[in-house]
Amino acid sequence: PIVLGIESTCDETAAAVVQGKNLLSNVVASSMNEHARYGGVIPEIASRAHTESFIPVVSQALEDAHLELSDIDAIAVSAGPGLAGCLAVGVSGAKALAWSANKPIYGINHVIGHVAVTQLQFGDVPENTLALIVSGGHTSILRVGNIATDVQVIGTTLDDAAGECFDKVARLLGFPYPGGPHIDRHAQLGDPHALQVPQGLTQGKAAAEHPYDFSFSGVKTAVARWIESEVAQGNEINVDDVCAALADSVANVLSRKTIAAAKSFDAGTVIVGGGFSANSQLREALALAGERSGIDVRIPELKLCTDNGAMVAMLGSNLVSAGVKPSSPDFSIDSSMDLNRICME
Ligand code: ATP
Ligand code: MG
Ligand code: FE
Repeated sequence: PIVLGIESTCDETAAAVVQGKNLLSNVVASSMNEHARYGGVIPEIASRAHTESFIPVVSQALEDAHLELSDIDAIAVSAGPGLAGCLAVGVSGAKALAWSANKPIYGINHVIGHVAVTQLQFGDVPENTLALIVSGGHTSILRVGNIATDVQVIGTTLDDAAGECFDKVARLLGFPYPGGPHIDRHAQLGDPHALQVPQGLTQGKAAAEHPYDFSFSGVKTAVARWIESEVAQGNEINVDDVCAALADSVANVLSRKTIAAAKSFDAGTVIVGGGFSANSQLREALALAGERSGIDVRIPELKLCTDNGAMVAMLGSNLVSAGVKPSSPDFSIDSSMDLNRICME
């Protein structure tokens, strides 16, 4: 099927066209620069940017694919999870297009789109695959029985997302938002053993009760305390060491729990997605763990990891191919959409 995918959950307005598992176009506009000076995404600014970018981005995606709206078999749009005002713009726009061109519409789960998109680079998602989705807003382990019909949450962060945790520590160290990439760069120069960064839910009863869950909310405080005590002792802070210890700890716990989940669910493939999968330390830790355990670890190229329209179109294509019923024309957005739900009814 030929599917137009539309994405507007956060700060990217994006549209793409896929035909089966071939990408015909992929257009992304981001309002990131407008948020940088506030140190985080401002929902009202992001929503307004979506209204301005929606028509140009969708038009460009169709033009790049050399297609008209009438050539499309179905429209897919992220219905959640995400910022309500942002979702409303993308979903309203997509519904208007579907209505005017008389096309079926699928209100899909953005997070599961991050899994689906890997098919463009690695081919089919094998049955019973494990997926780690990590970004500024999400940190979850999913078991994918079938990408179109069966996805279950295995673990999730109980508080901050991994990217959020990096951004908080980055702010403490004086890096501009988003700070994740700065931490990555400095971490490559530092000593990961210079200080201890807590891993969260890895010891004792908490570890047993939450084998595949994460907790990153204590990290920023732990780093802040360490810095305070070093300063009090008159020691100079080595920023590279702080970054290295943080990156090592986070990459380690993410990769360890993901591989453990894959083993316990007998999954031969692990898929990684979301903006934080850009992180070098995580990529390295997962690649190494994959080699050691004989698990096929699939981390797509960067432009498929961050939010885009191709992920939405690809999941839509899977749903059409599997014969899943389209969403009802009046489906709602769901800003906290359950990750066990692939598509709105
Ligand atoms: P979502 O709506 O899917 O949560 P998001 O906008 O919050 O999306 P992304 O844009 O997918 O997240 O990813 C951005 C996050 O990833 C930020 O927290 C950023 O700091 C972090 N990040 C990006 N590159 C790196 C890197 N190389 N190392 C560490 N963190 C990174
Ligand atoms: Mg983003
Ligand atoms: Fe995302």
